[in-house]
Amino acid sequence: MEVDPSQHSCPNTECPDCGKVGAGNIRIHCSRDRRLRCATCNKRFSARQGTIFYKLRTDEKTVLTALALLAERNSARATARILGTNEDTVLEWLAKAAQHAAQVSELLIRKLNISQVQLDEMWSFVEKKDKHRNQPDPAPDKGDAWAWRCIDVASRLRIANHLSKTREVADALPFISKVADRVDGFEVLLTTDKLKAYQAAMLEVFGVPEPEQSRRTGRPRRRRKVFPPGLLYGQIDKEREYGRLVCVDRRAVVGTMTEIQAALDRDGSCKVINTSLVERDNLSVRQHNGRTVRKTLSYSKDWQMH
Ligand SMILES: [Zn+2]
Repeated sequence: MEVDPSQHSCPNTECPDCGKVGAGNIRIHCSRDRRLRCATCNKRFSARQGTIFYKLRTDEKTVLTALALLAERNSARATARILGTNEDTVLEWLAKAAQHAAQVSELLIRKLNISQVQLDEMWSFVEKKDKHRNQPDPAPDKGDAWAWRCIDVASRLRIANHLSKTREVADALPFISKVADRVDGFEVLLTTDKLKAYQAAMLEVFGVPEPEQSRRTGRPRRRRKVFPPGLLYGQIDKEREYGRLVCVDRRAVVGTMTEIQAALDRDGSCKVINTSLVERDNLSVRQHNGRTVRKTLSYSKDWQMH
């Protein structure tokens, strides 16, 4: 593939033309090795720098085919067999692509104007389920794995992901922090299942100090955190008996039911407090990623690759 210098920028942070795409300072230094040169600072660099292909000897088409095969539920071993390469190599490409995709998401998905999000946590495991592990287990990176997900209801964009071993407040905190980072302001409706960790984590992340009350006597009290005005939070509690849904209870946790209903009507995507869209998204993940399919032998054996 021909290298187009106008699509690249100088990576040298000390160069006055650093990061400027199409500024006319980039020249081809060696087209066979895909090396470019900045005419301003004279620094040479690879055209693949900053991409998943950097320092790979394999051609781009093969790497992209491997990633497409993995995305269509083929195992790493099957992908390696199809392409006549090594399984470790395929896993290396996958790790590089995943890291790059996470960085791109972090850069692009931030401070979005979102009015309603659904949050949920999906169970899976690495190598062995917790209930089958010997206690105490010496391997902290094996066992049950909870994948936390948040989607924007209007666009169905998955705006935040997090992986943890348990579902405690300490696990919910980094996840809710990511959600807060990606949503612009407080005026958002959050809906979840009845997991208690959500409310405590939301108060910690979104909370503001309660308004000061004038007291004539006594020591000033330590100000607690309260939810900011505009933020709404509704929970859905699904009661099951022998796997069958018998009762659905919806409740307002932050804000009133009337305020939540008004927000739902304004948004127009859901009529009631719901987590069905993020639950459906979990099914899509299970469908496309062989490691998360239930009752399968293609589960993860390594926490990093999960
Ligand atoms: Zn330069």
